[in-house]
Amino acid sequence: MAENYTATILLVEDEPFLRKGIRLNLEAEGFRVIEYEKADDVLDRQNSFAEIALGIFDIMLPGQTDGLELCKKIRSRSDFPVIFLTARSGLDDKLEAFQAGADDYITKPFELEELLVRVQARLRNRVSVAASETIGAFRLDLDSGMATSQSGEVVRFNDREKKILQLLLLNRGRPVHRSDILDHAWSSAESPTNRTVDNYIVKFRKVFEEDPAHPRWFITRHGQGYELALP
Ligand code: CA
Repeated sequence: MAENYTATILLVEDEPFLRKGIRLNLEAEGFRVIEYEKADDVLDRQNSFAEIALGIFDIMLPGQTDGLELCKKIRSRSDFPVIFLTARSGLDDKLEAFQAGADDYITKPFELEELLVRVQARLRNRVSVAASETIGAFRLDLDSGMATSQSGEVVRFNDREKKILQLLLLNRGRPVHRSDILDHAWSSAESPTNRTVDNYIVKFRKVFEEDPAHPRWFITRHGQGYELALP
């Protein structure tokens, strides 16, 4: 399961059955899940948040740190979106959650389907925010599939190219395996090869790189795939 995921989600929930239910549902949707029972354990053991695309935090947690405090502490290091889970539903609690840096809030009990919809929505937002990014001399807008250069040159990307760019942007700053790119941008009925992915990267380099032979943005990480080297 961990081989072919689209994004990594940090899940902190002390109720074991709920945690397992959420994890299995997220994994079935193609996500990789890192799970913890306590916020204290996250702070002790999670050395880096670089790979985390989204957090799902229960508010009431055992130990020194609750979900709100965890979010505040992580916010100084990383800005991935956080969805809070809580049995509390008062307005003050919601305000407190948003002040702590929440992006969304879901009150227990909830349907797992609703959580999945919210997770997808948060990750879409993140991608479209990241998508209006500057890469080299171009401004890329994924929604329209257009890249516009400072000199006014416009390049349009097709749906497959948009999907690949979206995946690289979602994983910006870390390598994405060719097999993950194939999974994301081709259906299982098609039979592309790793070489097919390489051809798309060649095209991206021709568009975005000043010197395509020495790429600065679309980097090959040997044995690991391709990385879009944006901060
Ligand atoms: Ca709890």
